[in-house]
Order: sequence, then C-alpha cells, then structure tokens
Amino acid sequence: MIAVDELKRRLEHSPAFVLDMSQVHANLRPLHHIRQASGCRILYSMKALPLAALLSDLSDKLDGFSVSSLFEARLASAVSGGRGSLHVTTPGLRADEFAELSALCSHIGFNSLSQYQRLHSSTDRYSAGLRVNPKLSFADDRRYDPCGPHSKLGVDVGLLGQALPEGIEGLHLHTVFGRTDFQPLQAVISKLKPFLSRQTGLKWLNLGGGYLYHRIADLTPVIEAVRYLQTHVAEQVYLEPGKALVGNAGYLLTSVLDRFDSDGETVLVLDSSVNHHPEIFEYQRRPQLLDEDPQGGHSAILAGSTCLAGDVFGRYRFAKIPTVGDRLLFADVGAYSLIKAQRFNGYALPAVYVCRGDRYEAIKRDGYADYARQWA
Ligand SMILES: *Cc1c(COP(=O)(O)O)cnc(C)c1O
Repeated sequence: MIAVDELKRRLEHSPAFVLDMSQVHANLRPLHHIRQASGCRILYSMKALPLAALLSDLSDKLDGFSVSSLFEARLASAVSGGRGSLHVTTPGLRADEFAELSALCSHIGFNSLSQYQRLHSSTDRYSAGLRVNPKLSFADDRRYDPCGPHSKLGVDVGLLGQALPEGIEGLHLHTVFGRTDFQPLQAVISKLKPFLSRQTGLKWLNLGGGYLYHRIADLTPVIEAVRYLQTHVAEQVYLEPGKALVGNAGYLLTSVLDRFDSDGETVLVLDSSVNHHPEIFEYQRRPQLLDEDPQGGHSAILAGSTCLAGDVFGRYRFAKIPTVGDRLLFADVGAYSLIKAQRFNGYALPAVYVCRGDRYEAIKRDGYADYARQWA
C-alpha cells in the first residue's frame, strides 16, 4: 500500500494520476505463478492503461500484449521492439488498416465469420483465430456482459459446425469482467468441452481477461484448466488480463477548490471531475476515497468541477470535513480511467506520475497547448 501522506506531500500538481509500479509488480506475482505452474503465456491487455512507461516496464516481464486497434498495436510494437506476441481482437477491424495491423500482430482473433472471410488472406504471416462466444452470461449488467443476447462479440458457438473454417489455428474467449472467482471459466470450459474436443491441431487458445488474479486466493482452478486445455485442446494457452495488473495500482489525487452548504449538506468541489474517471458516471460507481473515515461523524458530497449537475463522486464520511486546499486521494482507479478521461469544460487531464518505491517521476502534464491542438 502506498504511503498516502507522503504521496500528497511529494506531488507538485493536482489533479494527478499516480501509477504505483511496486503494486503492478506485486500484481504480476500470481500471474507468474500461474505461468510457471501451467506453462501458459501472459499478455497485458493494454486498453486498461496504455501508458508507455508501464508497457516498457512490463515488456520483459510478460509474453507480449493484447490490443484492440491499430494505434494500440503500433504503440505496443514500438515499446516492445517487436519482441513477444501481439494479439488483436476487435469488432472494428478495418480493411484500410488491415495490412499494417496484420503485419504488426502475431495473432488475430477474428470477431465474426464475415470479418474473417473478408479480411483474412492465407499468405499473411500472422496466426488466424476466431473469437468464440460461449453464450453464457455472468454479469447482471448487460453493458459489460460480452455474452448477452444479440452480442456483437464473437461467433456464437452454437452456429459453428463440426469443423472450424479452413485456416483457423486458434480460438479466443473473453466472457467476464472484474471476477474474483473462477466459476465462469469452469462453466465455459464445461459448456465448450464437446465443441473443443472435436477440434484437432489448434495452435492456440486465448482465454481473455476479466479475472482479478491478485484477489483470488486459490489459483488451482485456472492452473488445472490451462493444463487440461494444453493437453487436450491447443498447444499454447494465453491469458490477457488488463485490470488485474493496474486497477489497484492507480490513484487519483485531487484538491478541494470550494466548500459550501447546499440544502443542509456540505458540498466539496474538487479540481477533478467524473470526466477523469468516466466509469463513476457510466456505471454509477462510488470510487474508494482513502481519506474517508466510515465511522466519522460528518459527511460531505464530493463534486467535480464541471457544469454537469451529475458530476458527483458521491457522499463520503469524515471525522472532520476537509477544507479548501486539502488534498484527497481516490484509490483503485488504475484501469479504464485515464484512458477514458477527457477535457469537458476545458479542464486539463490529470498530470501523470509513476511511483517506484519512494521515487516519484513526473511523466507528463496536460496543458493549454494540448487542449488547443485537440480543438484547433
Ligand atoms: C478488455 C479485454 C481484456 C481485459 O479485460 P480486463 O477485465 O481488464 O482484465 C482482455 N481481452 C479482451 C478481448 C478484452 O476485450
């Protein structure tokens, strides 16, 4: 756990996004254990946080990256110098980008049969696979359930016949988000067993992301699943976690800009907004505030600084309500926050710091020039 007071003292700029690299390294431990015990390979799904400093740190600790677009593929490839595997799967493959994308990527998981038939050419160097949708739902919120009705993600396994189309060497499966148990993995494998056992000579099977490995005490189920799959189904199994590597390693530092009463509640206006972590608003999440005292006798509403009435982080409890100038720290915001952040109302993106032990490195600071260039 990061030293909160020290962090608040050391950072020059607010708001700021801080990535704790020691925590990223701690998150690698269970993944390295799974790799060592099962022989699978592990990729970082870079869409969660594509910070180049992070990618270059991870590039010699993992087996490659998984990407969703040409830009991600270019960045991963530039950072890794072309070493390791580069997997791509997306509904958005474009004909006009395919030549470059397919030259950069080692593995392509085509999202549909029509995408495969239109874009794949047997003279290309990459290994072609198909994203399969097992049609098993594990999320109650359809917005992040890849397997719900009318899904756009992967080929319905029920529509695939006995044999896979000519040229398909691998399969891709990604079915969950933020899971802290392996029940879905086991359910998917047992549903797909008859289908998988009919496939012969598969080179690879990518099991996707969505599991928070560092929060799962017993890793035996995934190790056993990989061993089974590598014995009976495909030569090489890949895992491609995103949030499991960076979620709990990211912090958002913010400062109180104003404090006043509104209908009997204290409102604290922060120098950040839900636009720095849009999932707060999208999924009505209440981010964890390290300064909160759940037993505290006072409460205040933490609000963002934009004109949107709903730009609110939530109501938090305190022993003493923070005052103007105080710094507050949100935790567990490393994934899907900075990458989705934007400059609505003309507020800058958070400054970015990487912390390694007691060293803080300022990576970048968003300024007017960035805003002007975006809207020129
Ligand atoms: C988003 C995604 C991942 C990573 O998911 P996390 O929940 O961040 O682990 C992996 N594979 C695919 C295909 C994805 O879409």
